[in-house]
Amino acid sequence: MEATKHIAGDRGPRRRHSLRLLEDVGAIVTHASDLHASLQNIVETVAEHLGMEVCSLYLYDVEKQSLILWATTGLATASVGRISMGVDEGLTGIVIQKLEPVMAIDAMAHPRYKYFPETGEERYHSFLGVPIVDQRQPLGVLIVQTSRRRRFTHEEVRLLKAVAIPIAGILAQCRLQARLETTEEERLAYQQRMVAAMDRLRDYETAAPHRPSTRPASHARLVGLAASPGFGIGRAHIMDSEINIDDLPRERKHPLKREMQRFHTAVARAVDELERTKERIRSTVPEIDAAMFDAQQLMLRDGSFLTRIEALIRDGLSGEAALQQTVNEFVEQFAGLTDTYLQDRAADIKDIGQRVLRHLLGVGERQRPFGSGIVLVAGGVSLSDLAMVQEQDLKGVVLAKGGVTSHASILAKSLEIPTVVGAEHAEEVIREGDQLIVDGNAGVVYVNPRIEVLREFDRLEREYRAFNRELETLRDLSAETLDGHRVRLCANIGLLADIHLALMHGAEGIGLYRTEVPFLSHRDFLTEEEQVDLYRRVVQGMGGRPVTIRTLDLGADKYPHYLHIPREDNPFLGWRSIRISLELPDIFKTQLRAILRAAAAGSLRVMFPMISSLEELHRAKELLAEARAELRDADEPVPDEIAVGMMIEVPSAVFLVDHFVKEVDFISIGTNDLIQYVLAVDRNNRKVAPLYEPLHPAVIQMVAKAVRAAKAAGKPASICGEMAADPVCTLLLVGLGFSDLSMGPFFIPVIKRLIRSLTFETARRLADEVVNLSSVKEVKSRIFEAMRDLGMIDIMEMYH
Ligand code: PEP
Ligand code: MG
Repeated sequence: MEATKHIAGDRGPRRRHSLRLLEDVGAIVTHASDLHASLQNIVETVAEHLGMEVCSLYLYDVEKQSLILWATTGLATASVGRISMGVDEGLTGIVIQKLEPVMAIDAMAHPRYKYFPETGEERYHSFLGVPIVDQRQPLGVLIVQTSRRRRFTHEEVRLLKAVAIPIAGILAQCRLQARLETTEEERLAYQQRMVAAMDRLRDYETAAPHRPSTRPASHARLVGLAASPGFGIGRAHIMDSEINIDDLPRERKHPLKREMQRFHTAVARAVDELERTKERIRSTVPEIDAAMFDAQQLMLRDGSFLTRIEALIRDGLSGEAALQQTVNEFVEQFAGLTDTYLQDRAADIKDIGQRVLRHLLGVGERQRPFGSGIVLVAGGVSLSDLAMVQEQDLKGVVLAKGGVTSHASILAKSLEIPTVVGAEHAEEVIREGDQLIVDGNAGVVYVNPRIEVLREFDRLEREYRAFNRELETLRDLSAETLDGHRVRLCANIGLLADIHLALMHGAEGIGLYRTEVPFLSHRDFLTEEEQVDLYRRVVQGMGGRPVTIRTLDLGADKYPHYLHIPREDNPFLGWRSIRISLELPDIFKTQLRAILRAAAAGSLRVMFPMISSLEELHRAKELLAEARAELRDADEPVPDEIAVGMMIEVPSAVFLVDHFVKEVDFISIGTNDLIQYVLAVDRNNRKVAPLYEPLHPAVIQMVAKAVRAAKAAGKPASICGEMAADPVCTLLLVGLGFSDLSMGPFFIPVIKRLIRSLTFETARRLADEVVNLSSVKEVKSRIFEAMRDLGMIDIMEMYH
């Protein structure tokens, strides 16, 4: 009873004391300008508040698996930066290994105690260390020590843990800075690119669901997914930021005639602006159906819409208020409908309302911060959103939603805009005009970074450009191993604009033309003539190099408005891809006829997506034969032969692959889907991204089975999922015997460089070994080991 009373009586002042410590640490973090000084300041503050003789902070170096003394009060200052120990050494190492607080009343008596004479720590007996963790990644250890042998209280442990949270934020930046500072001048940008890829591998291992930053919004680091490589530095422009008219007067200030005139001028300007946007799109991304904007233009000519606004102005409302009220009424009507097409029209009306409103307020398109150097921040964006701002020196894109293979990401890659997607909370944390660094290689966004970080990224960006230029020298060389084994490197494309990129980066053909991409940005299915024109342009653009056209892969995350797909609970397991094509034979045959007609212009292959049974393949081939017959009947020239292939991206196709390879001319493995289906991990869900693992033994075994079957049948096998672009997977894929790898054009030079630096024999031996391993950990460590043997480990060590 006595004891309880004593503790209860103590709680008030103690809590106030704890709060003061947290406040002080928070203030240091918020005002930190020099990272080293701030960390030193923090350890001193902690020691003082808690009455500890020693407080030290160790930084964790992931790659070296070591801990370095970074700041201390109580230990010899000269040992800062000099004391380093492995994670398997010392009590501090246990904290990292367990990621839990570690306490020792007599540290020296502990078997894991490690003594460093230079610190003068022999005087200190009791030890308490807590891990500093950010996004589940250990960043360091915070330690307090006393010379008196004592047990630390629960309160002290809790408080030290609480202090570690704001430190994690500052340390994340500190780690970046240290990483950048140690970069020697002569380190080739090539290596940086490789490292970024290694980073991705580590990301697979360590990525964790994102939590909002604990730091104030002014400085933040958001972790998302790397969707399009490169570094971009610019000012944030929040795409969806709406003009709020709540503060504007509702009543008309001007005489009626003048207000009407104001309103009509704003409408005329909006119509003009839409016309210019259409033109811009037509010239930059021809596949995007500029007619999408016609809906908005029509609205501005729509009698009922305009009449309603005019009536409200007549009733005494200002142009702004009348517009807003009418938009709200229309939106409400449309939004209440169940038809998704009509629901989308509600978005059009909102958009047009904002457009006219901007002109009414005199903040038209030109005055919007689209000047130069902007980073677009949005929940998600449509193809046309992206195309609209593409001209405007867009430095980067940050999306709160979406996955790396969503079509916004695919377009961003085509346009070579560094992009991070799945950066949850981006819209809450980032404000209009914030300075942003978009690291499209690591999938990280820095909000209002400190000047040192900014400078380093600026340099990194320049080096990165230089590196890309350097890689261009590889363009005309073949992807051939040191012992003469050739692999064909092709490009994945979705837009005509990609052809230029494919050629620029040395693609030997198109391994995957995602034909649904142009369909997504149209108001209706493309006609046969439109498709023939498009496919011919691709074939001709590639100048005789082989082009693999994949038939429509709609559904799942690719919904054109006009398809009217009912909402599905599991769209990736639903009505998608070949299933849609087989159920809509007219649409499918139109596409097949267009492909066959375009095939007369050059080397073309046709590929069916998402085949899961022989019946589906048979039916698709039947429809292809019918399309051919129809063309023959119409005296259209059709090539006698066209290579027919299928994607292996559904597990059932892997099990039946021995049968499939007898019936097709080639196979291409779609690892993006295959991985999600084999591992039951949604490829677009940020929460489960760490589970999306290309190097999972089950995935490797399936990929190996497919390629073996193709080889046994003497048919070429390719990979066209993202795995083909991952340098960490290259050794394995080459070793498994893939004849073709197809990837985003940007990745071709790096993969080529890798292939040219290894022997097929080494890769083959590695693959033989890796297919028999049973855990991701073993696979990765074996691959890393092989890369180390090939001299690639230097690259990895550079960053971590
Ligand atoms: C795949 O699934 O790996 C693939 C290449 O197709 P997509 O990404 O278009 O679904
Ligand atoms: Mg797929």
